[in-house]
Amino acid sequence: MQFDAKQFLADVERVLHADYACDLKSAGRRELYNAVSKAVMEETFDDWNRARRSARRRCGYFSAEFLMGRAIYSNLLNLGILEDVGAALKGVGEDIMQFEEVEDAALGNGGLGRLAACYLESAASRNIALDGYGIRYRYGLFRQTFQDGFQHEEGDDWLKWGDPWSVRVDRDAVLVKFADLTVRAVPYDMPIFGYRNGVVNTLRLWQAEPVQAFDFASFNEMHGEVKATENFNATKITDVLYPNDNTMVGKILRLRQQYFMVSASLQDIIAKFKATGKDLRTLPEKWCFQLNDTHPVIAIPELLRLLQAEGLTFDEAFAVCAGCFNFTNHTIMAEALEKWDALALSDLLPEVYEQIVACQQRLQGEGLNPDQFYIVRDNVVHMANLAIYVCAHVNGVAQIHTNILKTQTFKNWYEQYPDKFVNITNGITPRRWLLLNNPEMARLIDGKIGDGWHTKLPELKKLLPHIGEMLPDFVRIKQQNKQNLAEYIAGHEGVQLSPDFIFDVQVKRLHEYKRQMLNALSVLWYYFGIKDGEIKDFPPTAFIFGAKAAPGYYMAKAVIKFINEVAKLVNSDPAVSDRMKVVFVQNYNVSYAEKIVCAADISEQISLAGMEASGTSNMKFMLNGTVTLGTMDGANVEICEEAGRENNYIFGATVEEVAAIKQYYCPREIVEQNPRLKRALETLVDGTLSDGSGMLKKLYESMTAGYEPDRYLVLYDFADYIRVKTQLLYDYGTEEFNRKCLVNMANVGKFSADRSVSDYAKNIWKL
Ligand SMILES: *Cc1c(COP(=O)(O)O)cnc(C)c1O
Repeated sequence: MQFDAKQFLADVERVLHADYACDLKSAGRRELYNAVSKAVMEETFDDWNRARRSARRRCGYFSAEFLMGRAIYSNLLNLGILEDVGAALKGVGEDIMQFEEVEDAALGNGGLGRLAACYLESAASRNIALDGYGIRYRYGLFRQTFQDGFQHEEGDDWLKWGDPWSVRVDRDAVLVKFADLTVRAVPYDMPIFGYRNGVVNTLRLWQAEPVQAFDFASFNEMHGEVKATENFNATKITDVLYPNDNTMVGKILRLRQQYFMVSASLQDIIAKFKATGKDLRTLPEKWCFQLNDTHPVIAIPELLRLLQAEGLTFDEAFAVCAGCFNFTNHTIMAEALEKWDALALSDLLPEVYEQIVACQQRLQGEGLNPDQFYIVRDNVVHMANLAIYVCAHVNGVAQIHTNILKTQTFKNWYEQYPDKFVNITNGITPRRWLLLNNPEMARLIDGKIGDGWHTKLPELKKLLPHIGEMLPDFVRIKQQNKQNLAEYIAGHEGVQLSPDFIFDVQVKRLHEYKRQMLNALSVLWYYFGIKDGEIKDFPPTAFIFGAKAAPGYYMAKAVIKFINEVAKLVNSDPAVSDRMKVVFVQNYNVSYAEKIVCAADISEQISLAGMEASGTSNMKFMLNGTVTLGTMDGANVEICEEAGRENNYIFGATVEEVAAIKQYYCPREIVEQNPRLKRALETLVDGTLSDGSGMLKKLYESMTAGYEPDRYLVLYDFADYIRVKTQLLYDYGTEEFNRKCLVNMANVGKFSADRSVSDYAKNIWKL
């Protein structure tokens, strides 16, 4: 985008006059933020409009979550005007960094929603015609604070500063009907700017509103009187994001959200397709849809229904669906694979349920074993099975994950339909996750190998011959990033960290399978070792955690309380203050992640093997030159393939070993053999840590008692974890260690989301 500072400031001034009756001198931050954003939106309108009118075949990325983070810096970067805008504002005495106060758009929980955001950015940057379709939640993922070490949740008012990067498109509003309620769906469109290529794709988020506001008179004629309660219920549908990551909540409101979003999207797409005069049987020539997990899978029976309402037969409609839909699986955990009560579903959406039953009947007609192949069974609708049966392609998100899908989770389906199953390893956008968050490092790389890597990340391999000469600058920049993070943490968490400490980081959603517990126990193990004088010369280390727990996930909240108590114990003990610090940052989100991943010395990726489908924070750390301390799980396996296992720190049971271990596993024996581990574990119940809630006791019991004690083999993997982690801590700071960091960065190319979306475009979307 061409930039003219004078013109830009005049545009900003004009918006300030028109929208806020103020000028550059009197504008507050909020006004300035909105005016700068709107001025840029105006400038890019023509590019956006061109994309909307283009006749190309497109893919719709259907997702209940888009974890976009903060838009302004990323948009300005991709438009190539970040520095220009910063300089223009500076010229009038304004600091562009003030917009760090703008709330993140946290319309997602974690990895799945962030993946959707990275894919939109990468697709635009590759000129792939991908548009996002989702929900405009009024409140995103809750804001987290700690009170007395317990997690507290507050509503996330992400619109507090306005939403200048969206436009409301009333002319495209549609009605979505439930058995008991009809609501109006109004789209808000957000431009997705490609990196310096003039491409603008769209994220269309639907907001639920009462129908009264919408042509009240004619609606009443058609549908009779509208009940007053409908007003109340309508907006409720898009009020709030369910804060559950990787778990299914069987709430009807959630089902309403899912149906609301896909029905509105499909109605919109069909109406526009029909306007071109083409036969709906040819819809797959113009459109395909990627279903991001099971959340949007109800789109399949909805499209069947809509097409038959347009005159197609069931078989014709089914053929269209088979040609349009594809499904991404994100987890093998049974508690996350969506299943709906058939009665509840048929009560809420009778016509949609009929289509599900028709799919079930068609499946039965295939002559397969009904015990293995079913969509509805015992009055439960299995959404993943529906997706696999109808979709042309089913993909896992890392090689090991896809293998598990084929050989375990969906074994029957794979054997019946082997060609459907493909792997597309996840990726991240290098624009947000290196160029934007670590500009000094990006400049260092540009100076060595040019800037081709911005859009062709495998070019980072060209760094390999330069690693020796880069080391001093690399170390200096990492140190500065650590200093910056330490200042931010001091300001936000009230904990002082020294940038001379090793920054050992685990940031991700809180889940038992991710094993924050393993990390926390190791902290106590080192702490007691230092106190007893058994561990000498412990390398000074800051253990940094960040994680939100689903509000209803008791054990996850117990782990947060535990780690906060460990932090209190360690940080208040002067005997170890020159050796260790522990901090659990509050409200971990995309903007916090940007500050953290460029400042980490260790990337903790320690899930039980087989449980983490891919992970993407592992890729963010790698991109910023951080070694992985991890298990052979998810994309860690491929990180080792790309960067060399010897350049990372791998420990723990493998997927192949896990099942066998569980046969005879007795955690108590392990604890008895390791007195210091025992002591660390018993802090949960022996009064060392304050509990006050009974939570820590429950956590202790989950590790040692019950039907399946220590389900995620924390204690089993503990000794190997300590062995490898200790090796890492003592390697830190050596030239060999610093080389490993850079070798990881140089070999991160595969994990660009540019590669992922190109794989989708080539192998699945055929764009
Ligand atoms: C990348 C990211 C995640 C995913 O982290 P994993 O460690 O891969 O689970 C979650 N939350 C935020 C805010 C992220 O940026």
